Amino acid sequence: MKREDIIHFGAGPASLPSDVLATAAAALQNYDDTGLGVAEHSHRSGLAANILATMKADLANFLDIPPSYDILIMQGGGSGQFDATIYNSISIWVERQRQEILKNTRIGVNGKEISEDDMVKELRQRVEWSLKASKEAVRLLGPEYVNIVADARKISDGKFGKIPDESTWTLSRKPAMVYLCENETVDGVEWPSFPKVLEPTGPDDDHIIVGDFSSTILTRRIPIKNFSLIFFGAQKNLGITGITIVIIKKSLLPPVSAPCPPAMLRKLGLPISPIIIDYAAAAQNNSLYNTLSIFEQVLKKLLATFPDKVDGQQVVAERKAKVVYEVLDAYPTIYKVVPDKSVRSRMNICFRMIKGGNVDEAEKAFLEGAVERGLTGLKGHRSVGGIRVSNYNAVSESGIEKLVAYMKEFAAA
Ligand code: PLP
Repeated sequence: MKREDIIHFGAGPASLPSDVLATAAAALQNYDDTGLGVAEHSHRSGLAANILATMKADLANFLDIPPSYDILIMQGGGSGQFDATIYNSISIWVERQRQEILKNTRIGVNGKEISEDDMVKELRQRVEWSLKASKEAVRLLGPEYVNIVADARKISDGKFGKIPDESTWTLSRKPAMVYLCENETVDGVEWPSFPKVLEPTGPDDDHIIVGDFSSTILTRRIPIKNFSLIFFGAQKNLGITGITIVIIKKSLLPPVSAPCPPAMLRKLGLPISPIIIDYAAAAQNNSLYNTLSIFEQVLKKLLATFPDKVDGQQVVAERKAKVVYEVLDAYPTIYKVVPDKSVRSRMNICFRMIKGGNVDEAEKAFLEGAVERGLTGLKGHRSVGGIRVSNYNAVSESGIEKLVAYMKEFAAA
């Protein structure tokens, strides 16, 4: 099978444009006429520093990242960030509380400071976490610290097919951290816009808002200022597996926000972040705390293709998704889109077959026919089955046309 015979719709890792891969392959052999491949150069070399700096600048340019945000390049993928966001948020939040207590309890010129035991008692009362995150939050902190403000499954037959109305959310009074996943890759549910109730109302909003942009980064404009930090792995829209990007408000990093001293976290029975996922350590070491994969080729092409940057890419992504949904809606007796129309993902288009009553057989036939035509990676997530068209940036409009021609042919057959 030749590369040009395939259009790959896998949900991640995603395929990359062939011209980008050709440049990357040459760079792996001999980068910039140095005689060494890019992955063989030291991550501490000037060459690596230059690649990192260019990549950060290109990303900031493409996404219009405000200068008040820093970009950290880390490892461990999105799953690593499930832990990192919690560990780091805990530490930053506790430290803020500790500093506030210290400020309010210093008495007189001689400064009688609060005793450590009283500090622990005071902090224990304040540590009312409300983290809507993954099972990791429960695993790391315990169920009492996790508040799931809205559970889509309760209004959508046990599935993530709708986003509950904001008026029904049970937000905590003073959450330490609020977590939202911008696009749910398994069932294909995407937030149409940033939730109104989470919009910052002023500088006193000191809770941390985390956004998982693993599957939509570089495909739409992000209201970055509404987030304290966002994260994503490279493997869907930025490049190959191996690095994870965190875009974080500089005010959450030293010297403005110091992490809480480990001894205090220990006294409070709270977990201490491993150094490798510690944001302060990453920032202080210019993302080079340890050996990092220095390899990036996609942003250059995006910047060269779209003079209006992410807005241009967004138009294309929406156009491609629209074409697929139009065919799905045109054959309601054959195809059934999984999520509600209001929250359909542009990136992961998930549907079931209702043709002929036997879903499994029909889907199997659809997938087999697709592979015969060079349309690969369409099988739904292993936990839910069905068909999933991942419409990441490297999937071309002509690739989408080939897919929809097949969908029409299958429906008519
Ligand atoms: N978040 C979302 C929305 C995802 O789609 C995925 C994986 O596909 C992850 C997180 C986990 O990412 P990783 O495999 O990089 O750990």
